[in-house]
Amino acid sequence: MNEPVLGEQTHAFIRGQSWQAVVLPFGATEPHNLHMPYGTDTFQVEELGRRACQRAWESGARVVLLPAIPFGVNTNHLKIPGALACSVTPTTLLHFLSDIVDSLERQGIRKLVLLNGHGGNELKPLMRELHHRTKVFICLCDWYRMVADAISRIFEKKGEHADEVETSLGLAFFPELVKLELADDGAERQCRLDAINRGWVNNTRPWHLATSNTGLGDPRAATAEKGRELMEIVAERLSQFLVELAAAPFDDKFPY
Ligand SMILES: [Zn+2]
Repeated sequence: MNEPVLGEQTHAFIRGQSWQAVVLPFGATEPHNLHMPYGTDTFQVEELGRRACQRAWESGARVVLLPAIPFGVNTNHLKIPGALACSVTPTTLLHFLSDIVDSLERQGIRKLVLLNGHGGNELKPLMRELHHRTKVFICLCDWYRMVADAISRIFEKKGEHADEVETSLGLAFFPELVKLELADDGAERQCRLDAINRGWVNNTRPWHLATSNTGLGDPRAATAEKGRELMEIVAERLSQFLVELAAAPFDDKFPY
């Protein structure tokens, strides 16, 4: 069951395939309320990437999953008492991505999917930086945006960090690391500028001021069943995209 997972494969196997597309997951290492592990974003994006690539493989697409990058942009988490968040800057992510794209391009890869699982990683400007410098077609899936409709249907409480969504995924896929009884209500503090509270203007939120214990969104209605339901939808949508991407002929006008 590990055919399309590069970190678990041998050179003997990998060199025998002609790879049509590559998936690079982006995670983070950061506090998630009081009840979820620091690796939450990375675990989620790895699980999704594995399921989607496996399904795409079974449909004949030669798509391979790269190891997830476990460090993300958390520059606004560094004043949380005792947090031990591990942050890189967007510039560092750009340099990293640029090197990976260069190495893939030299080895004939032309289609790359960035699979992002952390809100602080805004990867679209990075794609713009590389667009005119590489032949590789780079596209971005922020997985939580891909299933915004399903999220509002399945879950009771709105949130964005260690919330009902993430906690449900944790209960489904890494339950031994989730301590739901420790969770607080994830209430967001209002700031003194009304337009920001309304979402008309936004800023990089200082997390130690915006939250009580780093959570945003009440996680207490989370269940493993909701997490499995969401994972099924997102894995199916992503795998269908990967199959289509892999099969699409690549030429000067791609993807048009
Ligand atoms: Zn998260």
